[in-house]
Amino acid sequence: MPLPVPWTVDLPVAEIATVALAFASGAALGSFINVVVHRLPRGESSVSGRSRCPQCGSAIRARDNVPVLGWLLLRGRCRDCGAAIAPQYPLVEAACGTLTAAVAAAELVGGGRWLPLLADGSGCSIDRLLLHGDWPLVVSCVVHSAILLTVLAWSLLARKDALPTCRVAAVAILGVIVLVLLTPQAGPVGVLPDGASWPPSPPQLATLTASIAGVALGAVAGRLTGGVADGYCLALVGAALGWQAVTVVTVVTAAIRMVIAAIATPSNRSLRALCSEIPTIVPVVAAQIICWRPILEAWRHLIWLTNGF
Ligand SMILES: [Zn+2]
Repeated sequence: MPLPVPWTVDLPVAEIATVALAFASGAALGSFINVVVHRLPRGESSVSGRSRCPQCGSAIRARDNVPVLGWLLLRGRCRDCGAAIAPQYPLVEAACGTLTAAVAAAELVGGGRWLPLLADGSGCSIDRLLLHGDWPLVVSCVVHSAILLTVLAWSLLARKDALPTCRVAAVAILGVIVLVLLTPQAGPVGVLPDGASWPPSPPQLATLTASIAGVALGAVAGRLTGGVADGYCLALVGAALGWQAVTVVTVVTAAIRMVIAAIATPSNRSLRALCSEIPTIVPVVAAQIICWRPILEAWRHLIWLTNGF
């Protein structure tokens, strides 16, 4: 019998590589979001022209443009003139990387265990992904990551009074509806509170109904509780996750905002300033996406309890 080799460690290389790749992709997209948030309020193009230092106007070199690392290596200063570069840039890149890495860890590495319509308990999904091409899981991961980054970008733009136009929001929402119609397993649960598919046939009709119900409730609830940007964000969430998720995100976001407003007395104004820099809705949507199935089960349990009375 061969003796175990003490210095070898059974590293889950495929899983680590997947999460690292997701982080790098998210951070790169975060870098693009920084460009959009910086240029759109000024009426500049977000896709053409190199990034420049706002102080001296010199072009940012490719090696200094690496997400997060570039800012750290420059110690937050321009290489040419030494002007400070706002920490918001690496923070947005790190936040986007963390969000996409978390979704990839929960859905690709976790095998979709916490997704209501994809969970089959078959364990780690990277093998399935590589060997059998588990496309609904990949679509789900891409759609959910895109939703999180879009919600972050729209929230940051709203702070600069540069809301996306109605047409941009409509195109994004329609794009999500088309993707979940192509892969209903990655889409919202049924429109009825207990999750049953309705209308029962064909399955795409149930998905479309659930998506439209989510968009309608999201647009109204977001607009009423947080303004136009929240209306767009929650309509996007509703298109992919259904009205149940919209209800949870609306209530939790409103509760967190109320707590921040209540504890932000004149003596701890810095706390309020810090909280106002973080779009509250983003971590709530992230928690809803990553813990979708447990939240849905808690929701159904609550309805069951309510029906019991
Ligand atoms: Zn400079």
